[in-house]
Amino acid sequence: MNAGSETRRILLVEDEKAIRDAVAAYLERENYWVTMAGDGQVALDEFAKRSFDLVILDLMLPRVSGERVCRAIRDKSDCPIIMLTAKGEVEDRIIGLELGADDYLVKPFSPRELVARVRALLRRAHIDTEPQREILEFGDLVIDISGHKVLVQGKEVDLTASEFKLLTTLSRYPGRVYSRMELVEKVLGYDFEGYERTIDSHIKNLRAKLGDDPRSPKWLYTVHGVGYRFEIPHDTQPVSLEIDDMLGGTRG
Ligand code: CA
Repeated sequence: MNAGSETRRILLVEDEKAIRDAVAAYLERENYWVTMAGDGQVALDEFAKRSFDLVILDLMLPRVSGERVCRAIRDKSDCPIIMLTAKGEVEDRIIGLELGADDYLVKPFSPRELVARVRALLRRAHIDTEPQREILEFGDLVIDISGHKVLVQGKEVDLTASEFKLLTTLSRYPGRVYSRMELVEKVLGYDFEGYERTIDSHIKNLRAKLGDDPRSPKWLYTVHGVGYRFEIPHDTQPVSLEIDDMLGGTRG
């Protein structure tokens, strides 16, 4: 999907061996080059030695904490960082806003979701440096971002500019929940509350055009009381149940 891309290097920092090995195996299967670090000091040493395209960083680490590693990397590089945290360790918002991480996942997480976030962040980092044709594929749904085209089961769907913007905004970060307010700002460019309901009607139209049933959605999910999120359909990427189960039961 990533046309002409060379192998991307990922620094994976996690002290829990079971999670580290499982995530590394999953990333390697997706053809990423993975360097593993079991504590914060090793992570900083590795980061100093060579360049990485992305860092996956556990928050609670021996020797040097994930927080300090994150700040140290941010001080000298724009390298995308995904933080891993255990539930209740720290408020999500603090990680996003203060540490300078680009994204975060709360444990237990599915490796499939982590890979989706990795891909999205690398894509974004890549777009910032060299513009190229970008096509996202989610099962029957194909979004040609640069060509401004959307296909469902091979047939082009006619979307308005706002619907297209809404769909691309959500699908760039599968699994991430967007509030209506965020979507208003990103899609419509307004910044006041009266327009939140407009997002609901855009979503409604978008669902109708994509043939996505809100009662049993394939792509566009309502997050009640908050907003919406996009999901990669389950049939798009085969998931290894063993790894999912292992990570699902692990903490720390
Ligand atoms: Ca840890």
